[in-house]
Amino acid sequence: MDKEEKKFSSAEPISMSDSDLNFAKQIGEVAGTDLNSCLTCMSCSGGCPMYPYMDYGPHGIMRLAVLGLKKEALTSTSIWRCVGCHTCAAVCPMAINIAGVMDYLRELCLKEKMPIGDKPLFEFHKAFLTSVRFHGRCSKVELMSLHKLFTIGSGPKAWMQDAFLGMKMILMHKLHLLPSRLMSSGISQVRKLVVGAWRDR
Ligand code: SF4
Ligand code: SF4
Repeated sequence: MDKEEKKFSSAEPISMSDSDLNFAKQIGEVAGTDLNSCLTCMSCSGGCPMYPYMDYGPHGIMRLAVLGLKKEALTSTSIWRCVGCHTCAAVCPMAINIAGVMDYLRELCLKEKMPIGDKPLFEFHKAFLTSVRFHGRCSKVELMSLHKLFTIGSGPKAWMQDAFLGMKMILMHKLHLLPSRLMSSGISQVRKLVVGAWRDR
């Protein structure tokens, strides 16, 4: 994954014309905090391991939410590149549930059929959940195969880039060719959990 230039340092202005102030209220309910309490102190982005790879970073997403810039937030790469580690929430002086907001924005992006900021990464999420639906847990070999299948349009370089690493992992017994499965009652319970808008995209 390449590092991303931050959009707020770009000379290109962000249009405020489609600002939706209800959006801040809606996100505030998910965050469990009035987002206007955000100090823009950047502690969240400072601790975020994925910040270099995001277009806004967690503090930028909070600012977009406060300003009601829904489209900008929902189409950003930041919401997809967040790995849900909760470091941001742990360091936020205002106790804003930033990881919860990122999760909610991903759901909203799918629900409102907005363009996905990082499609190959979304396909990775999809491959993971597909494998979990089959077996009740993730099979790594299947995850890799499905991801390659779902991103087939990315070309031969993208398909082959992990082949050497995959072979090495098999030789080191880190990858098992046959998936391990939960018992059938467990799989049906997991399937009830793994539902959502991701299946339509
Ligand atoms: S750490 Fe909290 S208060 Fe500071 S910018 Fe991030 S969300 Fe806002
Ligand atoms: S939860 Fe997401 S936004 Fe927060 S620190 Fe982790 S990767 Fe960054």
